[in-house]
Amino acid sequence: MARIIAIANQKGGVGKTTTAVNLAAALAQSASRVLLVDLDAQGNATMGSGVDKRELSASTCDVLLEEQHADAAIVRTPEGFDLLPGNTDLTAAEIELMDEEGREQRLKRALDPLRAKYDFIVVDCPPALSLLTLNALTAADSVLVPMQCEYYALEGLTALLQTIDALKAKLNPNLEIEGVLRTMFDVRNNLANAVSAELVSHFGDKVFRTIIPRNVRVAEAPSHGQSIVGYDKGSRGAIAYLGLAGEVLRHQRERKQVQGKQVATM
Ligand code: ADP
Ligand code: MG
Repeated sequence: MARIIAIANQKGGVGKTTTAVNLAAALAQSASRVLLVDLDAQGNATMGSGVDKRELSASTCDVLLEEQHADAAIVRTPEGFDLLPGNTDLTAAEIELMDEEGREQRLKRALDPLRAKYDFIVVDCPPALSLLTLNALTAADSVLVPMQCEYYALEGLTALLQTIDALKAKLNPNLEIEGVLRTMFDVRNNLANAVSAELVSHFGDKVFRTIIPRNVRVAEAPSHGQSIVGYDKGSRGAIAYLGLAGEVLRHQRERKQVQGKQVATM
């Protein structure tokens, strides 16, 4: 049964899309069956997966509006994972959904039947706590929060986690925090190191041990329609994203062990 992980942070430019594509590719490398869902009208995750957002026969928009089954919109990427692609139509979908009943549940309804087909479903969220992001957080088992270690980052993170808590009670009581991910990290930057240390002291093991370094190869890969793992497997960026996938897989194994023990003692 797939674990659904939403990649969310209301701030733009923190590495959500980069993390969504590269985590999907890195998990696929480990022989996991992966679906990446592009929920951002910019369609960057779609383009970055090597799929042209201008030539989609069906997209996340049609699925949210229940005009297409997800199966009809899903395409295979050259990176070995499946993609539910998105483009600017998502803006229209969001407006149309505003007046619909159960408008936060649309993505959940579309993805739940796919759980048996995948090990992981990774959802790339837009840079706002919009209806689309609420759909992702309602569908998800956990949320992965990418953040840059900057001056106001901890404040933003605390606000985001409070919002997630409030939302949990209303829409998705079982939502967990998969982890906070330090992105675009520069070890020579003193402030980044200070913020990073504070992050770990506040949030402890909720912070991924893997740190994603600032790496020009990571920024180049999308212009070739590739993940960093496909583009340059030996780069520091690729090694980091493979490490992140390893941590996500370990979380999953640990959860299964706990579930196994609970069943054994019943
Ligand atoms: P978001 O989806 O949160 O808006 P993106 O993933 O699009 O953020 O990243 C913002 C920009 O930073 C993009 O141009 C991306 O290529 C670049 N970027 C992301 N991660 C890295 C990294 N580790 N090293 C260098 N550039 C990065
Ligand atoms: Mg993005």
